[in-house]
Amino acid sequence: MAVKKTEAIVIRSYPLGDSSKILTFYTKEFGKVRAVAKGAKRTKSKFRGNVELLNHGFLVFFEKPNRDLQNVNEFDLINCFDQLKQDFDQTTYACYCSELVDAIEFEGGVNQGVFSLLIDTFKMLPAAKDILLLIRTFELCLLNETGYMPIFSHCISCSDLLIDTPAKFSDRLGGLICLACRRQDLHSVSISLESIKLLKTLQQTDISAPYEAQVSQKNHQELKTVLFSLIANQTQKQIKSLQFIENLK
Ligand SMILES: [Zn+2]
Repeated sequence: MAVKKTEAIVIRSYPLGDSSKILTFYTKEFGKVRAVAKGAKRTKSKFRGNVELLNHGFLVFFEKPNRDLQNVNEFDLINCFDQLKQDFDQTTYACYCSELVDAIEFEGGVNQGVFSLLIDTFKMLPAAKDILLLIRTFELCLLNETGYMPIFSHCISCSDLLIDTPAKFSDRLGGLICLACRRQDLHSVSISLESIKLLKTLQQTDISAPYEAQVSQKNHQELKTVLFSLIANQTQKQIKSLQFIENLK
């Protein structure tokens, strides 16, 4: 049994009996770690309420080889994102980001870029002028970091450059296809030039310096359709917090 230490974010939490919790952490050094925090729900617990969803801390756990569930030894708080948690929408979207990180599978599973992306997004949420644009940027960054970068610069079938050129979007092929190639995917969907431009811009955007612009309802809708279908292809899971967000509207 080895003692492991790493920075970690609580991305999932559910009760175990009356007093304990089963937690999923996304850790800087080891990717996803599932672990039990024994007695975490007791008032006099050694965890002092630190093992709450979305919290960023320093995790110490005992790794038992070949076991899916580890034991949390310590979790010292670094940031509990107080400001974010005072706002219902921001909390809901932060939970959505956590759920996506939990759902998306990628080779190796360890990615410090994903870890930093989650923390930076939580930090930027309270300041975001357009929360949806920030979330679309998060989704694109997550796809890029995990090796599923969609192609918006050229036709994914014939490689022709697409600069102010009408095109269709294919979630199956993972990007844009020119009109001459649209038969490659009969289920490809229409997308406006303005939305294509926005997707290219957001794909180049650093989450810590978010792109800010007036975006129409139509563009927001198109961006959402594109990103949701790409994510659905990679996760093959229902994202519960997404349904919750949709039901609020
Ligand atoms: Zn083409």
